[in-house]
Amino acid sequence: MYKDLENKVAVITGGSKGIGNAIAERFGQEGMSVVINYNSDEKGAQEAADNVKAQGGQAVIVKADISTEEGNQALLDAAIEHFGKLDVWVNNAGMEIKAPLTEMTLKDWNKVISIDETGVFLGSRTAVKYFTENDHQGNIINMSSVHQQIPWPTFASYAAAKGGVKLFTETIAMEYANKNIRVNSIGPGAINTPINAKKFADKAQYEKTVSLIPMDRIGKPEEVAAGAAWLASDQSSYVTGITLFIDGGMTLYPGFKNGEG
Ligand code: NAD
Repeated sequence: MYKDLENKVAVITGGSKGIGNAIAERFGQEGMSVVINYNSDEKGAQEAADNVKAQGGQAVIVKADISTEEGNQALLDAAIEHFGKLDVWVNNAGMEIKAPLTEMTLKDWNKVISIDETGVFLGSRTAVKYFTENDHQGNIINMSSVHQQIPWPTFASYAAAKGGVKLFTETIAMEYANKNIRVNSIGPGAINTPINAKKFADKAQYEKTVSLIPMDRIGKPEEVAAGAAWLASDQSSYVTGITLFIDGGMTLYPGFKNGEG
């Protein structure tokens, strides 16, 4: 637990399930107040909010499409209205659409980019405007992926978006480094969340994924949330512009793990 996080206010996009839900729960344990954004799953968001309160934090849920300016503004407005300020903004919402390049429609490409990359831009801009206009210490955490680094055939839009998030994070981290605003990314590997439910239900696919992980297991959402709590806290006060990979070693070229090559 990080004492400095108590009473801090966070916005988490896509917080009704998966990694966002786990971050909300962890922030609740830290005694934080959390705006939990959801897109369609109101029940999941309400359960996440109840969980935050049960852990000792405060929470409100807000329906908003984070690929829009109004959606992100609504999240900031809710933080101010309910909790009086904003300290931490987590751009977590994301999605993927599988298609070989020649079958990838412009509509699907635009959808992935608008949520996974433009959503990160809009959320970051909303938060940084608030931090700078109010001369407030600020902290932004972007949920990237190991696929900001590892190419992923048939998921070119997702890899392009996450690759964009990497340089976007590094660039705005530098732009605001001397304004008391820190910006970092997290690069999860394969984590047990609804985004992977179908894939992991297939035993062969599950085992194939595990074979790509030096630690020989899928990660848990709370292991990603632990990284988010550290990045949000003052314990990482001299850290900006990094991607914290939480991936069981997936980015370490696992094909070489038995000394091959
Ligand atoms: P998930 O599908 O469980 O959760 C994604 C959340 O984003 C959902 O709540 C969904 O409703 C929300 N969302 C999607 N579009 C939205 C929109 N337009 N507006 C508001 N919310 C929207 O997936 P997850 O695994 O928890 O993924 C969270 C983040 O972590 C994503 O950015 C994903 O790319 C990233 N990630 C996940 C993994 C993994 O293995 N699970 C690995 C690497 C990166």
